[in-house]
Amino acid sequence: MSIEVTNITKSFGSFKALDNVTLLIKTGELMALLGPSGSGKTTLLRIMAGLEQPDPGSGDIKFHDVDVGNQRVSDRGVGFVFQHYALFRHMTVFENIAFGLRVRPAALRPSRRDIRARVMKLLKLVQLENMAGRRPHQLSGGQRQRIALARALAVEPRVLLLDEPFGALDAKVRQELRRWLRRLHEEIHVTSVFVTHDQDEALEVSDSIVVMNQGRIEQTGTPDEVFHNPKTEFVMHFLGEVNAFHGRGDTHGLRLGSLELPYPEETQPVEGDAKVFIRPYDVTLDTKTHGLPAIEAEVVHVHAAGPLVRVELKTSTDQRLVSEISQERFATMDLTPGTQVYVRLRHIRVFADTGAQKIP
Ligand code: ADP
Ligand code: MG
Repeated sequence: MSIEVTNITKSFGSFKALDNVTLLIKTGELMALLGPSGSGKTTLLRIMAGLEQPDPGSGDIKFHDVDVGNQRVSDRGVGFVFQHYALFRHMTVFENIAFGLRVRPAALRPSRRDIRARVMKLLKLVQLENMAGRRPHQLSGGQRQRIALARALAVEPRVLLLDEPFGALDAKVRQELRRWLRRLHEEIHVTSVFVTHDQDEALEVSDSIVVMNQGRIEQTGTPDEVFHNPKTEFVMHFLGEVNAFHGRGDTHGLRLGSLELPYPEETQPVEGDAKVFIRPYDVTLDTKTHGLPAIEAEVVHVHAAGPLVRVELKTSTDQRLVSEISQERFATMDLTPGTQVYVRLRHIRVFADTGAQKIP
């Protein structure tokens, strides 16, 4: 079941929570809607589900080529999992999962035996087979969310919508669950939209990512594309730590302090003020120039505990920057606060500095 959202706008009073949003979720895909709090993710999800109506005349939503604008929530066949989707407290795990099937009208209700078989199958799928008789308060937070997911899947939804389902759990459990969700998706392949404000979660879980900002889509692409080829400054900042410089460009290249740099591939030349961005692991350090263009800098601080060594630096003009180098490289360099080094920039990204864009 594909989902096609075309030119959807949603206003609350004079405030536009969604501003002309268009996106396509392919059949069987797990798409992440990623953006800061307030960017419109939940509103978009609720509109897909039919829990919220877009502005009259603003656009349409199709499930597999069929306009669902006039379909009620119950007719759209969506399964929902929320951050705090409280399970029914007085019911066992089994009864919670069976609920959606038991409340069906008699003609559509599976037999008791079929319900039992389906619930047991779902319990197996979410790896909680021996929990059928427990009540929600006897489960951990992570187990409860897995049950919430099993409950959403019980009615065989055409589309699964997950709104920060792991948002209330601690970091380690979140990490386990996102891997688990990925594996589960590979098994069941139901078209899914996963809302998160956590870039690592989006990058790890999804087939494609939609980055949202202030009710608009900044970029859509695979995790690899949005991470390595951010189209906007916002995406660059939102998807990981980044060093920012001010530079000046003309048709030939870019001037960063005393450094002249060519434009990286696929970059439009900038006339005048430019913002130059680079991820810490693309900032390499050396104790000699080897005759190559480099920026002189002084080590301010070294954090060596971790898979990479994080080196904080400042240039002679007091520009601060962070470099991440391998432990092996670090072992050969003898870096301590005060050490002078040569910094080289690999894989920069350049945007015209219009002064307009807000950085999170
Ligand atoms: P997100 O899920 O990305 O955090 P939301 O979709 O919940 O963002 O909200 C987007 C914006 O719309 C926010 O500024 C929020 O305050 C506003 N908003 C959401 N729902 C309503 C509502 N029912 N009435 C008024 N404003 C709302
Ligand atoms: Mg939200």
